[in-house]
Amino acid sequence: MKKKMIAVLLACTMLVSTGCSATVAMDENGKITVDGVAIEDLAKDFGVNLGGQEDTKEDTQEADEEERDDDEELKTEGGSPWIDSDLKNNIKEDMELSATDDFHLYTNHDWLLKSEIKEGKRSESSFSEVKDKTDEKALALLNDDTLTSHDAQLVQALYNAILDWDARDKAGIDPIKGKIEDIQGISSLDELSDFICDTDRSRFASTLILCGNVVSFDDAEQYITAVVTDGLILEDASEYSKRTEMGDRYYKAYLNLAKAILTRLDYSESEVEEMFEDAISFEGKIAEKLLTSADKMSPDYIDKINNVYDPDEFFELAGSYPLKKYIEGCKYDNAKQYLVTEPEAIKRIDELYTEENLETIKNRMIIRCVTNMASDLDSEAYDAYIEAYNMANGSKGREEDEKVAFNTVRSLLSVPMDRLYIEKYDSTEKKKQITKICEDVIDVYREMLADEDWLSDETKEKAVEKLDSITINAVYPEKWVDYSDLDIDGLPLSDAYTRIHEFLEDIDRSHTNGKVDNEIWDMDILEPNAYYDSQNNSINLILGLLEEPFYYDGISEEALLGGVGAVIGHEISHAFDTSGAQYDKDGNYVNWWTEDDYNAFKERADKLIKFYDGITVWEGANVQGNSIQGEAIADLAGIKAMLKIAEGTKDFDYDKFFTAYATIWRRLNTRETDYYCLMQDTHPLSYLRTNVTLQQFDEFLDTYDIREGDNMYLAPEDRILVW
Ligand SMILES: [Zn+2]
Repeated sequence: MKKKMIAVLLACTMLVSTGCSATVAMDENGKITVDGVAIEDLAKDFGVNLGGQEDTKEDTQEADEEERDDDEELKTEGGSPWIDSDLKNNIKEDMELSATDDFHLYTNHDWLLKSEIKEGKRSESSFSEVKDKTDEKALALLNDDTLTSHDAQLVQALYNAILDWDARDKAGIDPIKGKIEDIQGISSLDELSDFICDTDRSRFASTLILCGNVVSFDDAEQYITAVVTDGLILEDASEYSKRTEMGDRYYKAYLNLAKAILTRLDYSESEVEEMFEDAISFEGKIAEKLLTSADKMSPDYIDKINNVYDPDEFFELAGSYPLKKYIEGCKYDNAKQYLVTEPEAIKRIDELYTEENLETIKNRMIIRCVTNMASDLDSEAYDAYIEAYNMANGSKGREEDEKVAFNTVRSLLSVPMDRLYIEKYDSTEKKKQITKICEDVIDVYREMLADEDWLSDETKEKAVEKLDSITINAVYPEKWVDYSDLDIDGLPLSDAYTRIHEFLEDIDRSHTNGKVDNEIWDMDILEPNAYYDSQNNSINLILGLLEEPFYYDGISEEALLGGVGAVIGHEISHAFDTSGAQYDKDGNYVNWWTEDDYNAFKERADKLIKFYDGITVWEGANVQGNSIQGEAIADLAGIKAMLKIAEGTKDFDYDKFFTAYATIWRRLNTRETDYYCLMQDTHPLSYLRTNVTLQQFDEFLDTYDIREGDNMYLAPEDRILVW
């Protein structure tokens, strides 16, 4: 599971360049998840805490909005050719609605008008609705004391410990106090090294460097031990050279959180301010050597991070930082090779690891301890965490404790939770149906690929080979990791967390130098999500997505294809886009496109980028076409594939189909979240996923009699279909 922690850092960057092959997501709480794991809960060792991350969830979306007292100055108006209907400020009761002018608003107006972003959330969307339904079913299991299996005991023990506010309040901030005193007591660089290398002591603090196993880029059957830096408080390296509105918000939010916790440990506010600024300026020096979000968009991103070292060579990267001792402490020193994503950053950390910087490094560790642990302490600390979270994300209030507890259970104990859920709620029918749709979409892709006249025969042949090798992971797996050795019964929350982390870290260590078992899905299947995994060439459409409006009893074929079908179509296209072109049919990082094919694709993508660049979201803010190209192309391919299926379906009701598609993208964001998505997310904003995607197709224009002069109209020569 440490793998997932590492995956967070890798994926936070990877997913940008690989489209959405990495499953980094923003869950309903605004927590970042990777493979369904909330990093806040799982990767405490990290420090990325308040969420604020985007929403790279495969195709999932969230956000929030609402009249906020303090956002008068945040612009929401002036969008062109459509208003940004992901923002509630822009939704009025008496708007003129027309399918020919703004199909997204026309379809979703009632929902957008009546929906509110729930307390503690950044957004409300069809995905959050789906999640609410799953939550309800799961909570019934967590509260059912007649369940006696080991899985039930595990998840209920953690759930109850999280909700045991009496015990948490009694413990107060002792769990963090001990850590901080330990750090305070360090009086030399040697002692600091002892601390870092003792993983029991440094867990949840900040060790500057982290390691764990990931799937090798060069050999997708093989694990490799990855070494990464431990993340930044302001998240994106570019925030340290040119601070944006987002960076400012995070700075303020984390600083307030640090003050709230540390003043309870007798630090004065001004001391905390100094420590915080010290930590930020230290990170700024590391950030100079880290890749920024923009770097991660670059096509050669994997080349940049795929730096494989033999052990001797690897340990030479650092002389003062105790790299070897740390890797030994983490028990990854038996690795045959190491994947170092940003070697220059490791060297920079080594340069900065001096007696002179001792207090600065300690300050940063203390700040990171706070940001990593605050949400799991007593109610006073939790309130401060919520306040900071809301400040960072523009949300208000707080989510129900039970749901928060379930999210943590799901992220830390996904296997027992998922298994319990599957046993209770039979999903064999769903599995059959989804498998069949995946197979149908794969068949349609075979035709689509054959029809592409800009693709060479050589590349087409390889594409079909890859298509035929796709593994369909539908709904739930048949094989699970064994959790029978884990027991947390009766432990207070902080000890339960430690025990679970140790258990998950042991699992990860057992993968060192080992083979990848693709029958075990490395994901939380209750996440409302779907994705293509380029490292094992699999399409994943999991149980958590299969609630209304995506799936319900008696759903029509049109609605199924407009929702789940379009998502599957979208995902499969990632096997064949510029990112998919870099991975062969077995998931190895090997480019199988000819240069001419790549250039032809790029030319088509450039037209799309330009088109999206021309869309104004609100006054002064345009879409960043380059960032969202991969996902926008996938949306188009998804609809194209579905329309091919429709062609062969008797009496296909196109209105139902397009309406279902617009419905899955209904969403409200807070203005802050909207900005984040606009700047950082690789997916277009939701209203654009509906409008821009659909206006490319004659079937759509014909269904609603859309003509030249209508806002939804797009002349054939201006269309941006890539596939
Ligand atoms: Zn995608």
